[in-house]
This record gives sequence, C-alpha cells and structure tokens, in this order.
Amino acid sequence: MERLTQRSRDVVNKKMTFMERIYLPAILKGLFITFSHFFRKKASLNYPEVKKPFAPVYRGQHVLKRDESGAERCTACGLCAVSCPAEAITMVAAERKNGEESLYREEKYAAVYEINMLRCIFCGLCEEACPKEAIFLTDRIVDAEFTRNDFVYGKDKLVEPVDARIDVSKRQVWSYQSNSTN
Ligand code: SF4
Ligand code: SF4
Repeated sequence: MERLTQRSRDVVNKKMTFMERIYLPAILKGLFITFSHFFRKKASLNYPEVKKPFAPVYRGQHVLKRDESGAERCTACGLCAVSCPAEAITMVAAERKNGEESLYREEKYAAVYEINMLRCIFCGLCEEACPKEAIFLTDRIVDAEFTRNDFVYGKDKLVEPVDARIDVSKRQVWSYQSNSTN
C-alpha cells in the first residue's frame, strides 16, 4: 500500500539483543544526556528573583499621569477608548467642581476609568491618541490574577501615586529617536 507520509514506520517484531535486554547502554545514554545539560547555559531564569531585561520599547501596564502639581491630566475626552482596537477602555466623565482644581487639571475628568487587561493587546494606540499626555504604557508587567474581574484595572491601579511618580521618559525618548531616524 502506498504510504501517505514519510513518517510512518514498519513495526518489526524482532528479538531484543543481549545488550538491549540488560538496558544498561540505554540507561547510560540517558544519563550522559542528563549530565551534558549540567554544563550548558540555562534557558530559564529564577523569576521573580532574576528578571530578564526588557527592550526599551516594551509596552506593559498603563499609567494615568498627573501633572507637575499632582492634578490628574486625563480630561475624559474618550479618544483613547475610540482608538483602542480591542475595546478595552471604558470611562465615565464628570464635571470638576469648585475646589477640585488641585485634583483634576481640566474642567472635565474621568470619574471612572477602566482598562480590561485581558482584552488589551498592548498596541500603544491609546497612548498615541491622547491629546493630554495622560496615558502611557510602561515597562511594568500586569500581575497574574485568579479571577477575570481582577484584570479590570480601575483608577486605583492606573493613576500614578502623587508621591511615587512613574517615569515614562526612557521609552518615550527611545521611541521618538527610533521614529525620527526611520
Ligand atoms: S494598548 Fe492598545 S489595546 Fe491596550 S488599551 Fe491601549 S489602545 Fe487598547
Ligand atoms: S487618557 Fe487621554 S485620550 Fe484618554 S480620555 Fe484621558 S485625556 Fe482623553
């Protein structure tokens, strides 16, 4: 019968030789392969103690930035949500009240701002669409979670803390340089 592929093999019911019956050569061959791996460069890292360096253009967890005085930059214009191909961003806009000028830079702000990290494909289009330089992707990894709901990041996780600003300048400078040379 004509073979359909080159991978098929004929099964032969031949008697095992003496060496095959004592299994010793096969065991030694297996041990040799195991020992040879001791001296090879490891392919894995002891994460999270050891972390692999990321490329300068790596796009990870988003941050919603504050301005120099600590007010939220986002004005809830919705351009990031419209430009998002994965429809991962949702928000609810609200009007800034008197006395809230130090909290929100513009008269309109995002009372609710959520990104579904399971939908996000980290394309960076939201960052490019933002006219207020309010949203950036960073080199932080999105944490592993046990439930789907925990992957919906709200303002509590997205807005940078006032006293622990997140530096996005390194990737921005690198991206700008690589774009201008192309
Ligand atoms: S990185 Fe891309 S997919 Fe993720 S929220 Fe921004 S626009 Fe949407
Ligand atoms: S992050 Fe930027 S684009 Fe998105 S709603 Fe806020 S200001 Fe508009």
